[in-house]
Amino acid sequence: MKRTEKLDIHPSLKKYFGYDTFRPLQEDIIHNVLDKRDTLVIMPTGGGKSLCFQIPALVFDGLTIVISPLIALMKDQVDGLNANGISASFFNSSQDPKTQQTILEQVALKTLKLLYVAPESLSFLSQILNEECISCIAVDEAHCISSWGHDFRPSYQRLGFLKETLPNTPIIALTATADKATRQDIKAQLCIPEADQFISSFDRANISLDVRVGLDRMKKIGDFVKNNSNESGIIYCLSRKTTEQVASKLKSLGHSAEAYHAGLDFIERSAVQDAFICDKIKIVCATVAFGMGIDKSNVRYVIHYNMPKNIEGYYQEIGRGGRDGLEAKAILFHSYADVIQLRKFASGAVNEKVQIAKLERMQQFSEASSCRRKILLSYFGEMLDKNCGNCDICKNPPQFVDGTVIAQKALSTLFRAKEKEAIGGIIDVLRGAQNTHVLDHGLNTLATYGIGRDLSWAHWQQYIIQLINQGFAEVAFHKNNALELTPLSHDVLFKGRQVKLTLPVDRTFVAKKTKDSKRQAKNKTNPIGLFEHLRKHRAFIAAEKNIAAYLIFNDVSLKEMEKHMPRTEQDMLNISGVGAHKMDTYGASFLTEINAYINQSNRGEKDTFSSSYKLYKEGLSVEEIAKKRELQPTTIISHLCKIYLEGKPVDLNEFVSDEEITQVKEAKEILENPVELKKYFVFLEGLIDYGKIRIALTLLEKG
Ligand code: ADP
Ligand code: ZN
Repeated sequence: MKRTEKLDIHPSLKKYFGYDTFRPLQEDIIHNVLDKRDTLVIMPTGGGKSLCFQIPALVFDGLTIVISPLIALMKDQVDGLNANGISASFFNSSQDPKTQQTILEQVALKTLKLLYVAPESLSFLSQILNEECISCIAVDEAHCISSWGHDFRPSYQRLGFLKETLPNTPIIALTATADKATRQDIKAQLCIPEADQFISSFDRANISLDVRVGLDRMKKIGDFVKNNSNESGIIYCLSRKTTEQVASKLKSLGHSAEAYHAGLDFIERSAVQDAFICDKIKIVCATVAFGMGIDKSNVRYVIHYNMPKNIEGYYQEIGRGGRDGLEAKAILFHSYADVIQLRKFASGAVNEKVQIAKLERMQQFSEASSCRRKILLSYFGEMLDKNCGNCDICKNPPQFVDGTVIAQKALSTLFRAKEKEAIGGIIDVLRGAQNTHVLDHGLNTLATYGIGRDLSWAHWQQYIIQLINQGFAEVAFHKNNALELTPLSHDVLFKGRQVKLTLPVDRTFVAKKTKDSKRQAKNKTNPIGLFEHLRKHRAFIAAEKNIAAYLIFNDVSLKEMEKHMPRTEQDMLNISGVGAHKMDTYGASFLTEINAYINQSNRGEKDTFSSSYKLYKEGLSVEEIAKKRELQPTTIISHLCKIYLEGKPVDLNEFVSDEEITQVKEAKEILENPVELKKYFVFLEGLIDYGKIRIALTLLEKG
């Protein structure tokens, strides 16, 4: 690839985003764009696509237009950029003409670096769509252009005009959809046939993969959530009704969970989504309607209550976990009933054959007995040369046993039941059940009735599914899912053919202590450790400023702060995710918290907030507490404010007058809600001290 002169882009990465190194391919892609070459980027969700056009945008002189399908997604990205001190905005039909005019003026003055636009709104931008103003065009979620893709949007198909209008402006198209047909379509329709392609690995090694039998799943999920109660997670379900049932069950167990599905109106849905993003709701139980356009980096687990209908969907959904690169868990429950249900959905569809084939691949994945990640990646055309070590099969390899007798019992029951019974009926016969179905159909008279009492219902189910997967029996989907014999079953029944089966797995989430769980226990954050402390502090600022917590610092940054305990501004700048702008905005306040935490641990106190509160309850004044604890009075006040926000009785009104609260309120409105107390202090000309400002803001926040 020819390159003119290679600019060092590392300083921008550090200054604006606070990162030290590029992820694989990012650097090459950025240079390609800076060389003004058309570029196609295929990277999995969470792979770091955005930086690939955001850094060039900072380097280029003019504006970078980012075409994006969803207004919600645009807003998140723009908020994130602004939080890093980058001048970015979005343009759409919901804005009033005045706002739109201001944006166009900013473009003319070249003060704006990135402008996010939905394809429908491009026609309103004709006055700036020239090569004087525009330096680069990024087409995000570019698969929306292709009718092969799964999110086809007709408005994307008109984007070919961009290359005609701006022939010398580089176009960078980005997507997480890997298939070849879509790729070709993107290049053809954007008129960039010569675009350089960058395809990154689809492996998301930080997401552990776990597949379980669906039996008793609500109980298993309940246990899991209990053990992960501080974390954010998504639980995908097949039906609206299930999302509501799971959410209400979790709520009844005391967790913060809400349902999300297309049956809710727009306002209800947005409320759930916003609350989830801001960490106000921990768990969303959703249909697949949820997720596109969600850019939340600290989703720690994604559970599939039901089996998804294909591997693409499954991979995209689990990809919403662990976007910050920290450990995340993907747990899939699958059941035979799901398969039958999904087959019903597919039958009669235009592309029924394709859908069924994809469903079968999904089923094979769920029932596999070799490394899950290998199977997934091979589906996307990528070969792992060794087992991943981070899936249930790698951690707990299945044990093979001689299953010949089991197979003979099951298959001869199929035979005697005249190949008319579905799996449930067969198991009932084997276990000698006495329900009406058995008695009405005279199944209790079959010679094999009751010969399988030694095994549980669940184990029989797993064994029979294995027999089906190995071709020893077949499901007649058009005959009420009756199990039928195959040529292979005859070999087992009449020719002594041996059958190998794997022992059923029945692990729960409160697993025995394996090496892995010990390692995790070590890594698990201490509930009163610095990470939790900083997380509380972050939540406090987020509430005060009414922004999403991760826009302040993400979990990766807080974890690094816990590990390295920065004491100075320079230390702080070495933390991943702390760029110059965030240092200015939040650095000092986090350094204060870290110092307070270190002092408190040195004195052997457990929880700095509770220590202050204890003395407050004993009737000491703020000054007395400060003296006793060797802290600043403003620190004590901030502790009391946090305790107050947690709902404990603290009479904050005793520290400020109504008049002072009113003044702070005015300042807040005029200054547009800044985080830094200093701004209020300066605005109020030093007449109200920091402690009082903090208290007034807390009272205003609580309303
Ligand atoms: P995508 O658009 O591909 O789904 P994003 O661009 O949203 O992914 O990036 C996912 C996360 O990874 C974001 O939190 C982003 O800040 C982070 N990230 C991106 N590049 C880097 C990097 N070089 N170092 C550390 N974190 C990064
Ligand atoms: Zn594996």
